[in-house]
Amino acid sequence: MSIRLTDFRNEPYADFSDPANAAAMREALALVRSHFGREYDLRLGQERHRTESLLDSINPSYPNEVVGRHHKATAALAAEAVNSANTYFHVWAATPATTRVEMLRRAAQILRRRKFEFNAWLVLEAGKSWIEAEADVSEAIDFCDYYALLMLRLDDPEPLVQLPGERNTLRYLPLGVGVVIPPWNFPLAILVGMTTAALVSGNTVVVKPSSDTPTIAAKFAEVLDEAGFPPESFTMMVGSGAEVGDLLVDHHRTRFISFTGSREVGLRINERAAKTQPGQIWIKRVIAEMGGKDAIIVNDDADLDAAAAGVVASAFGYQGQKCSACSRLILHEKVYGAFLDEIVERTRVLRIGPADDPANDMGPVINERSRKSILKYIEIGKEEGRLLAGGAAAPGEGFYIEPTIIADVPPSARIFQEEIFGPVLAVTPARDFEHALELANDSEYGLTGAAYTRDPERLRLAADRFHVGNLYLNRKCTGAMVGAHPFGGFNMSGTDSKAGGPDYLFWFVQAKSIAEKTG
Ligand code: NAD
Repeated sequence: MSIRLTDFRNEPYADFSDPANAAAMREALALVRSHFGREYDLRLGQERHRTESLLDSINPSYPNEVVGRHHKATAALAAEAVNSANTYFHVWAATPATTRVEMLRRAAQILRRRKFEFNAWLVLEAGKSWIEAEADVSEAIDFCDYYALLMLRLDDPEPLVQLPGERNTLRYLPLGVGVVIPPWNFPLAILVGMTTAALVSGNTVVVKPSSDTPTIAAKFAEVLDEAGFPPESFTMMVGSGAEVGDLLVDHHRTRFISFTGSREVGLRINERAAKTQPGQIWIKRVIAEMGGKDAIIVNDDADLDAAAAGVVASAFGYQGQKCSACSRLILHEKVYGAFLDEIVERTRVLRIGPADDPANDMGPVINERSRKSILKYIEIGKEEGRLLAGGAAAPGEGFYIEPTIIADVPPSARIFQEEIFGPVLAVTPARDFEHALELANDSEYGLTGAAYTRDPERLRLAADRFHVGNLYLNRKCTGAMVGAHPFGGFNMSGTDSKAGGPDYLFWFVQAKSIAEKTG
């Protein structure tokens, strides 16, 4: 059977203007709230541990609400998790690929069935709006279905050249124990994507979810259980990045690390993983997806209405906490003033408040530390440019920050170069389109970018020269769809892998070539 990836279809989004969906979502929010404060054991294979060192996750819209209480891993348990995953690896790797694929498809079905409940966990633990949560959960479903297809393709590789007197074949083998370290900002989609890609290709995994969103991870562990993944094939291990994370990365039995998060932590992992430990018999593979400082270019010949809508959505959707968020706006000098007026106008009407209220466009940022760091950058930005909108914390119990626009920022400014990861947009003028491209590329990152122009020649120029992993032309720079926009960046944005793309599973396998003499 030949697998056609173009037959893949993305999970449709629920329409919350439909009163039935809105009612179902409210019901799910109430159900999830009724589980607030529950304790989650640490799961290691068949065993459950209560370490008595608890990590509380909170609702960033109402920080007094404890969403889940999680038993944290100790260093000894983290080491045990890698050793157990290593023991079980040989069983799991020998499980037929089609069986693993069936499990993954079941996982997609379970997520589909529990979609609104998962949406609600994302709203309440990660501060996502209903729509952002729906997109995150849909993406998680897409990853399961898409990687299931990719695995079927890997299991039936293209035939090799056949030499006379030989049978020449290639098969793809899993690598071993993978350590999966996701961020909090796509607490389901990225966790699910990285975990299931590793699992379906026959690796065992130790997952260390982000400390901000451990309950969502615990809920996904339930899905893997119900889908039939053996408990020994994966561990969800909540614990401190510095203590448990370093240990998992350093362990001599760890074969690969699949990480998504900041540049700082990604580089640390890459360095540590490069050091060979006593007893280690391979070079660890590191798949690291890191930060961004993504730019949108608006040329003077652009559809300015569409561009303004795209910029505001890219900059302030999920409070600017997407690696793909637009944080640099490069405007042709001829439309500079008018376009700024337009986006300031659109930004002023955004409503900020608790994420569970669908009337709000923007919810809280993830935690107090993040809010402080963003506010510090805003103060730096006020010195570096001209404040046009926002510029402060927004009122309310949650970690709210006003959507902030700072114009006339020199390209060398800190707020134009450093990832802030919040609702802060820095704007600079460009003399012309070529100059705009130079400014866009003047960054150590290279994740997403967009260019708005009506001129086909300039669109071609952007396609050739705008050095980012995900380029969007005449549309916003967020919202990558599995299968259609394979996702991952250049330079300090990562190791050039493409999540949700046709090559992704190759990162989790090694090829074995077999030549058998036949005559
Ligand atoms: P982070 O780097 O702070 O944390 C990411 C994960 O690493 C968390 O699970 C954390 O607990 C863990 N960690 C921390 N220290 C560790 C250590 N020493 N060893 C091992 N693990 C450790 O990032 P974050 O705040 O969770 O996420 C935001 C960042 O992620 C932003 O920089 C954003 O751009 C990036 N991101 C990138 C992509 C992408 O696809 N390129 C996607 C989403 C987010």
